Amino acid sequence: AKSTGHNMYCVYEYHMADNINAHLTLGGGLRKAIEEEQFILHYQPKIRLPDETIVGAEALIRWIHPELGMISPDQFIPLAEESGLILPLGKWVIRRACRQLQEWREAGLAPIKLSVNLSSRQFMQADLVDMVQIALEETGVDPQYLELELTESMLMADAQQSIEKLHSFRKLGLTLSIDDFGTGYSSLAYLKKFPIQTLKIDRSFIQDLGQGCDNDAIVKATIAMANGLNLKVIAEGVEERSQVDTLNGYECQEVQGYLFSKPLSSDDFVSYLKNHNLT
Ligand code: C2E
Ligand code: CA
Ligand code: CA
Ligand code: CA
Repeated sequence: AKSTGHNMYCVYEYHMADNINAHLTLGGGLRKAIEEEQFILHYQPKIRLPDETIVGAEALIRWIHPELGMISPDQFIPLAEESGLILPLGKWVIRRACRQLQEWREAGLAPIKLSVNLSSRQFMQADLVDMVQIALEETGVDPQYLELELTESMLMADAQQSIEKLHSFRKLGLTLSIDDFGTGYSSLAYLKKFPIQTLKIDRSFIQDLGQGCDNDAIVKATIAMANGLNLKVIAEGVEERSQVDTLNGYECQEVQGYLFSKPLSSDDFVSYLKNHNLT
């Protein structure tokens, strides 16, 4: 008979091995997954206030694993970053997003802006601007409908080089957004040194909005300052109607979150668009 201690050890060992296996399986499978294009993009609507028209979407990647099913980006983007596979994967995302815009246009939909997330390693890639330019040219997408979402930490890693890179993107005609704003350490005044057009306020500030917490004042001041600096502001992670009411009062231009829709497949997004934008 085994002692309790031994059994407990076995349980622990089993779970640990499980995690390591999952890590290795995902990491090892990633290269093959890229070759076999086991990925899709989902699209979460961006809603303009106060009329609540859909004016855009954010592209969010999902891995459709042949055995494990749908895997969320939080589980494999870090692995892709570590291994460098984020470069071919990121390229696939940009090209897929551009093709999607082209397909929606060919289907007769009114144009909307599509934003794509970049990772830090991808942002440092020397030929990134050329790659985006080629994707736009090959699909004939009007660059004003493509937006890149970047984080503060990406820009701060090498501020001078980032400024130059962002200017190159601006010359192509696309727009640039700061994602997860408020979670980094940079002030809005400093961020304005970068040629950016949009500020996306992080979900952590939106969660308890309208309950008289400090976040109310922070969000209100951020929106006021962004408006003063001619930046478009969008709030992410909006789940409650009361948050929309508060954001309307602060003159926030756009919202995104589960209150309106979770990220959708292309087909479901088109249906949502047709039902929602009635006028
Ligand atoms: P993110 O860019 O901050 O994206 C927002 C995340 O919040 C998404 O998770 C989205 O589904 C989720 N979300 C949206 N509305 C709500 C809401 O109302 N409540 C809550 N609780 N969550 C909401 P997702 O799709 O799992 O993506 C997670 C992260 O993975 C993204 O965070 C982004 O950093 C990264 N990611 C996703 N797609 C890509 C990609 O194509 N390339 C790169 N480099 N990163 C990506
Ligand atoms: Ca984002
Ligand atoms: Ca975000
Ligand atoms: Ca985030």
